[in-house]
Amino acid sequence: MHSHDASTEVLTQAILRYAVDRVRLDPPPLDGPRTPAELRAMAGRTITERGIGGLEALRVFGDVLAPACISIDHPRFLSFVPAAPTEASVLFDLVVGACSIYGGSWLEGGGAVHAENEALRYLADLAGMPPEAGGVFVSGGTAGNLSALIAARHLWREKAAGTFDRTRGLIVASKGAHSSVALAARAMDVDVVDADADAGGRLRIDSLRELVDGLPATERSRIFAIVATSGTTNAGVIDPLAGVADVAHELGVWFHVDGAYGGAGLAAPSVRAHYDGIERADSFIVDPHKWLFAPFDCCALLYRDPMLARRAHTQHAEYLDVLHGGEGYDADWNPSDFAHHLSRRARGLPFWFSLATYGTAAYREAVEQTLHVAHEGARLIAAATHLELVMEPELSVVLFRRRGWTADQYQAWSDSLLAAGAAFVVPTSWAGETVLRICVVNPRTTLDDIELLIDSLA
Ligand SMILES: *Cc1c(COP(=O)(O)O)cnc(C)c1O
Repeated sequence: MHSHDASTEVLTQAILRYAVDRVRLDPPPLDGPRTPAELRAMAGRTITERGIGGLEALRVFGDVLAPACISIDHPRFLSFVPAAPTEASVLFDLVVGACSIYGGSWLEGGGAVHAENEALRYLADLAGMPPEAGGVFVSGGTAGNLSALIAARHLWREKAAGTFDRTRGLIVASKGAHSSVALAARAMDVDVVDADADAGGRLRIDSLRELVDGLPATERSRIFAIVATSGTTNAGVIDPLAGVADVAHELGVWFHVDGAYGGAGLAAPSVRAHYDGIERADSFIVDPHKWLFAPFDCCALLYRDPMLARRAHTQHAEYLDVLHGGEGYDADWNPSDFAHHLSRRARGLPFWFSLATYGTAAYREAVEQTLHVAHEGARLIAAATHLELVMEPELSVVLFRRRGWTADQYQAWSDSLLAAGAAFVVPTSWAGETVLRICVVNPRTTLDDIELLIDSLA
């Protein structure tokens, strides 16, 4: 350990070769899960007093462990939200690890933080947020939503000058909101009320107004944030953001937009108008690890006024005081101060490197390409007599049903596709009915891939 000898050199070459070979696989094998008992038997004991050696550990990884992880970047991995990191982003991720960068403070990681801020700026510009907007890359949408809502509550209490310090806050969201909003509320010990959604799952402004107007004044004063979703995870639809912004503005409360999945669509001119109103958000998240071609784990958390977030999130401790000279925008920009965390990997760097490498036009085209496949794929599905669209796709999620199938039949079909290494598509439910859902975020996914699914459902 901690010495560069001949065996370290051999291991270095082996690890680099493995990584490069994996990046070159087009496509990688789909692979599939194993039970804990199978993995125990196949991997053997790996943690021992003397170590099994790097080459053997790498062999176990390559032969046993990696194949027990489904390749989320396979073009026919269409469940949940897949990932499709670019070659540049994945390879640069190795560099980020190699450089031992502390991404929490400007003092220690200023160069990396500068680059991360450039990438954040690109996203803030896509959303039309003001020049002062800024934030930090956190692990995922779950962490991003929690941190944004903590900042929102902080401001609500600050403005009340002590009156609400012991009052339980209230978040207004929608039935289509992601489960992480409810989780944030549990962690913060606040309540959530959901406005009704329309048949497509979009928050209804009339329901939002009714809900808010129907609350007694004391209840209404507990509201500290309204959360809208720009791309629901299950159906890929965008709430009417301008209408939600109006209501939040009238109430004088924080407007948060969860674009963990769908925020990437901001880069695509063909759907950009669907996001109108997002420029009024007090905070906004988007996961580059979902639809902006970055490796895990990477969520961009942006605040309209980052100084509010800093007041909510800065940790004070004797050993940290050296980091906190100055105030306002002139103070050092410490990413730790903008979310519920302290130590952090400069996890925005692979995304930055990829943007710098390929340019923003390539991002625009890649997002448009996935939208094209989703929308044309929906046409093919609609044209197949054994299938039926649940709704027209707005972004890159397509919900559809196989006529006459039960939940068990969907599951059996899904299992057999995975077992054959052909595709990974799991059923979801919509309005209580089991249906199929595909989510296209991989520019390598083609209409031929969709055809293959359609045929296998016949
Ligand atoms: C995926 C998703 C999340 C959670 O993001 P993680 O990165 O998985 O934590 C939150 N909101 C929406 C809308 C999502 O699609």
